[in-house]
Amino acid sequence: LGTHPQLGLLRQLDVGLAGLCYSLYYGMTHPISGPLIREAIQWDAAISTELPGDNDMTELIDLANPLKAAQASNLVTDAYRRARTAQRSIRALSVRERLAYIARLKTILLERREDIVQQVVKESGKCKFDALVGEIFTVCDGLDFLLKNAEKLLADEKVPTSISMMGKHSRICYEPLGTVLVVAPWNYPFTQAMDPIAISFVTGNATLFKPSELTPLTGLIESLLLQAGFQPDWVQVVYGDGQVGNQLVEGKPDKIFFTGSVSTGRKIAVKAAAQLTPVELELGGKDPMLVFEDADLERSVAGALWGGLTNSGQSCTSVERLYIHDRIYDQFKAKLVERAMQIRVGTEAGDDMGPMISDRQTAIVRELVEDAERHGAKRLTGNQWDGQSRSIPPIILEGTTHAMRINQEEIFGPVIPIFRFKDEQEAIALANDSSFGLSASVWSKDLARAERVARALITGNVSINNVMVTEGNHHLPFGGTRDSGIGRFKGRYGLHQFCNMKSVMQEK
Ligand code: NAP
Repeated sequence: LGTHPQLGLLRQLDVGLAGLCYSLYYGMTHPISGPLIREAIQWDAAISTELPGDNDMTELIDLANPLKAAQASNLVTDAYRRARTAQRSIRALSVRERLAYIARLKTILLERREDIVQQVVKESGKCKFDALVGEIFTVCDGLDFLLKNAEKLLADEKVPTSISMMGKHSRICYEPLGTVLVVAPWNYPFTQAMDPIAISFVTGNATLFKPSELTPLTGLIESLLLQAGFQPDWVQVVYGDGQVGNQLVEGKPDKIFFTGSVSTGRKIAVKAAAQLTPVELELGGKDPMLVFEDADLERSVAGALWGGLTNSGQSCTSVERLYIHDRIYDQFKAKLVERAMQIRVGTEAGDDMGPMISDRQTAIVRELVEDAERHGAKRLTGNQWDGQSRSIPPIILEGTTHAMRINQEEIFGPVIPIFRFKDEQEAIALANDSSFGLSASVWSKDLARAERVARALITGNVSINNVMVTEGNHHLPFGGTRDSGIGRFKGRYGLHQFCNMKSVMQEK
């Protein structure tokens, strides 16, 4: 399946295999989902006939109108009031009781997968296969992690008491924080809603969720949660744009979990600091991929294509800088260019890559590519793009430097700047020469070297001989260093970030 022709060029790495494993697993654990992988392959085509972001968002609030702005403000106040009341009933449930809701939710996600896929594809423009595997299955994986581990991880934890305090018993209690505000971007609209909502609920919090106005998935999240038995105020979806997001931040939640751009993250962090709200920021990336001379050429080229182009390059962990060892540079470049030119972009059956989310995102890509070209970079592919169409072909760029904007700012489009390096030290120095620090990948058959390089990179995540895989493992904490964010999400550490970790010492 890893090279199944219908999976298209982009999915030749382990992604087809991941789809198969997920499907076998959910097929075994959930009888109705047996034939999922067959469906997934048949669904490979992008089916959206509309451009993404063209939603009929009647629910969204037009804040240009002062009356509506006032209504939005009332809506936010009311949402907090209801959340604070609702949180008492969530808190009263044991973790096991909360997990019963999560188990029902997982069943419902698998049963209603087609509804979910349709809405995600319609609003985001991604392929059906990617919506199924990259969003629904990964969410189910996260729910599985909670089902198997949350009770143990949230149980009171006994810890030793020092000798000077003999006769006392010490423990950590993982208690809810209260009301958590989750603000999400548009690039993985289902995952970025469900992952934090589920964690927030299992840890006993009420949640206010603000989706991106580009991908509101209107009504979907509420309907899935209600079907799973959630009370309406346990998780409230608050629709609106950045101004509504800002009002929600000012509503003084007990924690803010934000995923999005560095500039918005900075604004939220300033507000949060002023009101002393704990804040977790999952921000952008500028991920380097380092290919050493002994790397498997086929796999690493497939990795560069998948890492640079999946979701049309609109992923926080996209490969945004590709460093290739001098000795294999020409051979690697030739293969990369040949494969990139075969990738079909559009919304027809069999296309490999969908369009960009918006004209704004398209303009950012155009500006950065044109700026690089003005300063001497050369496009090896993608010359046919008119700079306007949202269907951008893969653009491989040679001759860029770190001084150019394209290597300093997040591109968030299907563009891969390529570079040469001479040795390990230079590769590490180049990779670390960035204000971001989200993820990276290292490709080499010499695992001792790959490990050494992985440890020298200033990032929150590293994949060795693969790309973008750490975020798919719910046992691992995910997050960035430097401008890529503050805090860790998922896994044991992620779960505890949604808790008030209360220290209790008891004496008879
Ligand atoms: P964005 O413009 O920062 O928006 C993110 C969310 O914040 C949206 O819901 C937005 O509302 C809202 N928002 C805007 N201004 C706000 C304010 N002042 N206060 C509160 N909320 C506000 O980011 P985006 O363009 O949607 O997403 C792309 C970015 O997300 C990229 O940088 C990508 O790398 C990053 N990302 C990071 C991760 C990660 O895990 N590290 C994962 C995915 C994406 P509206 O858009 O509706 O106006």
